Amino acid sequence: MDGKYVEVLIIGCGPAGATASLALSKHNIAHVLLDKAVFPRDKVCGDSFSYKGISVLQQIDPELLPRFFAEYPYSPIYGLHVSSPENPGIDFTFTPDAFSGIAPGFIAKRVDFDYFLYKYVKEKGATVHEGVVVKEIKRESDGLSVSYMKNGILSTYRCKVLIAADGNKGICRQLLEKKRQKQQDLVALRGYFQGIDNPAPDKLIELHFVKDILPGYLWIFPLPNGGANVGLGIDPSGQKSDQPLREVFQHQIEQHPLFSERFRHAQLVGPIKGWSLPVHATIKEFCADRVLYTGDAAQLVNPLTGEGLGQAILSGYMAAEAVVKAVRSQSFGKSFFHAHYAQPLWKKLRKEILMSRSAVKFMEKYPKLFGLIGKKLYNSPTFYRFAADLADNKPQLANLLRPSFYWKVWKNK
Ligand SMILES: Cc1cc2nc3c(=O)[nH]c(=O)nc-3n(C[C@H](O)[C@H](O)[C@H](O)COP(=O)(O)OP(=O)(O)OC[C@H]3O[C@@H](n4cnc5c(N)ncnc54)[C@H](O)[C@@H]3O)c2cc1C
Repeated sequence: MDGKYVEVLIIGCGPAGATASLALSKHNIAHVLLDKAVFPRDKVCGDSFSYKGISVLQQIDPELLPRFFAEYPYSPIYGLHVSSPENPGIDFTFTPDAFSGIAPGFIAKRVDFDYFLYKYVKEKGATVHEGVVVKEIKRESDGLSVSYMKNGILSTYRCKVLIAADGNKGICRQLLEKKRQKQQDLVALRGYFQGIDNPAPDKLIELHFVKDILPGYLWIFPLPNGGANVGLGIDPSGQKSDQPLREVFQHQIEQHPLFSERFRHAQLVGPIKGWSLPVHATIKEFCADRVLYTGDAAQLVNPLTGEGLGQAILSGYMAAEAVVKAVRSQSFGKSFFHAHYAQPLWKKLRKEILMSRSAVKFMEKYPKLFGLIGKKLYNSPTFYRFAADLADNKPQLANLLRPSFYWKVWKNK
């Protein structure tokens, strides 16, 4: 078999692939990353990083985020501002990490963050080939061989194991699983704006569950210097109208009473871009013989919130940890990766993903009841406190067993 040999090959140098690389570098495992893009590159995203990903990056390398914050613009985030039909907006704040002093979330443009990661993985010793077109992935008796074109030259890497971190609609599944049936993704649009009125009330991100696009939402995420990442995400299968998404977006920011005044003097900077969000994670599809799927390639996006960065970073890290064990024991079969990667990953994400799926179904089926819950959140301080504790990861579930709790909520107390 021809080609250069490397123990681990990672396809995709986004957050999932870069995190896997950083974790492998820490264990001195030789690996190479291939990416079709040339960095810096944009990635359509809300640019919102939650504590899920922050905590993993802090664990791998406590110097990484402080360095990013020192070199690039970002907005620290301390909570959410949420509106829904009949609820003009309430705030939930999160407790910052007492140990690191880092805010529980931040907004940073992906063009910056991913470029920083790309440079950081190289600094830590990884080889990255960018601007490549992967042509073929072949299974061999003792590994995989991956052929790619760069500048008109065909090259091949042989590896023991492949980490697929090539995002949604990536090449790895296409080449390795030709018969796969694809389920419908969520779709979302993003635009960068300047001059929105009050884009960052108290360093919160804004999620607006607008009646016409339920269970989707419109977001306004504050960027430094008065900028904002504004977008709208929907489940196309749940939409009654077939109006193009761009028109829906335009209509909302120009006509909806929550936004029209605030956007009156706002300017769109650059084009509005769209992309899809894969939300159909199933444990069976997280790995195969010698292959681990991570991030969007494993369809890990949360179907309610659209968050995928935290899952990409977490899965990249967990894939690398499983690969370290595989290299030590020279076990690269599906059953090994199922036990050491798919199962632990699903255990971490299962509750959140299943609860979000149920919430989406609930909104689709009972939009009026969802509206009533929003109204109660707005009017009942008891219910609001309960929800705020839940959002801040300090659930007071004993309340649910107290009749007085329901009475207070009913009476708007
Ligand atoms: C409009 C929108 C808004 C979003 N907002 C948020 C948000 O605010 N917060 C959040 O947490 N999540 C958000 N998400 C989801 C988030 O963007 C993704 O979950 C996240 O980018 C997944 O990271 P990843 O590393 O798996 O994939 P990606 O970030 O997509 O990276 C994949 C990498 O693989 C490379 N690649 C792709 N194909 C190939 C190929 N054939 N060969 C070689 N390389 C290849 C790409 O160039 C890229 O560098 C949003 C998504 C969309 C569409």
